[in-house]
Amino acid sequence: MMEGSLLISKMLERAEKLFPKKEVVSRTSSGIHRFNYKELGERTRRLSSALETLGVERGDKVATLAWNDHRHLEAYFAIPGIGAVLHTINIRLSPEHIAYIINHAEDKVLLVDPMFLPILDAIKDHLSTVEAIILMTDEPQLPETSLSPIYSYEELLSEANPNYEFPKDLDENDPAGMCFTSATTGKPKGVVYSHRGITLHTFALGLADSAAISESDVCMPVVPMFHANAWGMPFASTWYGTTQVMPGPSFTPELLAELITQEKVTITAGVPTIWLGLLKELDANAEKYDMSSLRAVLCGGSAAPMGMIRAFEQKHKVPFIHAYGMTETTPLATLSRLKSYQEDLPEEDKLEIRAKQGYVVPGLEIKVVNDEGEAEWNGEDMGELLIRGPWIADEYYKDERTTDAFRDGWLHTGDIVTIDEEGIIKIADRTKDLVKSGGEWISTIDLENALMAHDAVFEAAVVGVPHPSWQERPVACVVLKPEASATKEELLDYLKPQFAKWWIPDDVIFMDELPKTSVGKFQKNSLREELQEHLIV
Ligand code: ADP
Repeated sequence: MMEGSLLISKMLERAEKLFPKKEVVSRTSSGIHRFNYKELGERTRRLSSALETLGVERGDKVATLAWNDHRHLEAYFAIPGIGAVLHTINIRLSPEHIAYIINHAEDKVLLVDPMFLPILDAIKDHLSTVEAIILMTDEPQLPETSLSPIYSYEELLSEANPNYEFPKDLDENDPAGMCFTSATTGKPKGVVYSHRGITLHTFALGLADSAAISESDVCMPVVPMFHANAWGMPFASTWYGTTQVMPGPSFTPELLAELITQEKVTITAGVPTIWLGLLKELDANAEKYDMSSLRAVLCGGSAAPMGMIRAFEQKHKVPFIHAYGMTETTPLATLSRLKSYQEDLPEEDKLEIRAKQGYVVPGLEIKVVNDEGEAEWNGEDMGELLIRGPWIADEYYKDERTTDAFRDGWLHTGDIVTIDEEGIIKIADRTKDLVKSGGEWISTIDLENALMAHDAVFEAAVVGVPHPSWQERPVACVVLKPEASATKEELLDYLKPQFAKWWIPDDVIFMDELPKTSVGKFQKNSLREELQEHLIV
């Protein structure tokens, strides 16, 4: 067989040749911008050539601080296209962490949305490797800034070569991208993706039993392009000639519902908090929108509550696919689809299966391990999930801290799961979120799932709180739906028939909102901190 190296530039070249007329729709701060793959190809080639003119060489890191829009998409291909490394920065990290990762990655050039200039301004004296900043703006004039040297993206493109040829002698194992996990404690950890890893992951997104992204889709990643490459959707959509919708800097539930309606989006992806927001909007104003084009909402990043899936599918006829992955896994690892012989099961049983995290996608292997060795596939024994395969990281980037995540050829995910006879995994918790009560483990995700299925509950996070005799006990933090009411006793009575007695939370605390991480997950460590003394009398 031939070698045929798996390079990211080849995805774009295919789109240019086969799908020049297909559209990319991008919402920027100045409105909706539409163009096609022919123009995407030309503008990407211009950006590649401009970067080379600025002195970017193979292996150099070029970072982006940007939302999901067309310029960010151009950067996705232009940077790895020349053999440089696309470093997508999570702009919701603290300025201190952003400075750390820019220096740690040794970013040479930054591509920046104007709205993030104040962040850069605040940290500029701490940046030691940056040689140029490119402002991704629609405005002809650059704003007043003390940052230097600074260039206009559009001006650089207008002067650059539209016929730039992507080098073909890159090695598919060369780094193409990097992303830092959003640390809840300590400094973020960097993961480097190779051309080969990204390409194989992109194949997986197109499989019929996976996300099945295809030419006929209209794909809208709501998950930010800095969160594990928007879960690979920009790569898959481009390679397959899919129409892309980039929601831009502001993705309120109203704006998302409008975009889905207007652009007839067929597949979208994001974390549960995004979909909880959309559900609230649809419940209140369903008549304003048309969701009938949607064939799949990919939901991952944290556990998709079963009540939410049920509400979307039954009330609004919007089908969900629950998926699991991590920054370290590029990220898609498992995905929840029924097997053909499960299709005849009662609706509730099917929902229960689909609300789990599913089984492993082709190309990867998993196993579940606990103190006794490999866990039984019985849906009950808990253990840590281990993953290996060609799009799984095998180290953190230049990190001197000790980690036991990469051992014996496996990624140790730190996620505690059960696996059933069908190979379907169910995440009980991240190791650090499990409640350890009197030597037994309690899954906070199960409790949250049950609470969020209650009619009055909008969001719920359960955390382990230090307890004088049980080591830890669960406490539920609950946000009620607007105009709904429920008491602590009502909610606990609702849980009692569903769980063993010792799983029932010791308290329910009502809140106006739950703290969220930079990628929209419940920030359990800050709740834990806040409740440190709560059960100590
Ligand atoms: P961060 O560490 O910033 O949260 P990641 O997106 O890499 O960034 O987080 C990966 C973790 O998110 C997984 O290890 C797991 O704990 C959690 N996770 C991802 N998808 C799911 C899911 N479908 N259900 C439950 N937990 C999930």
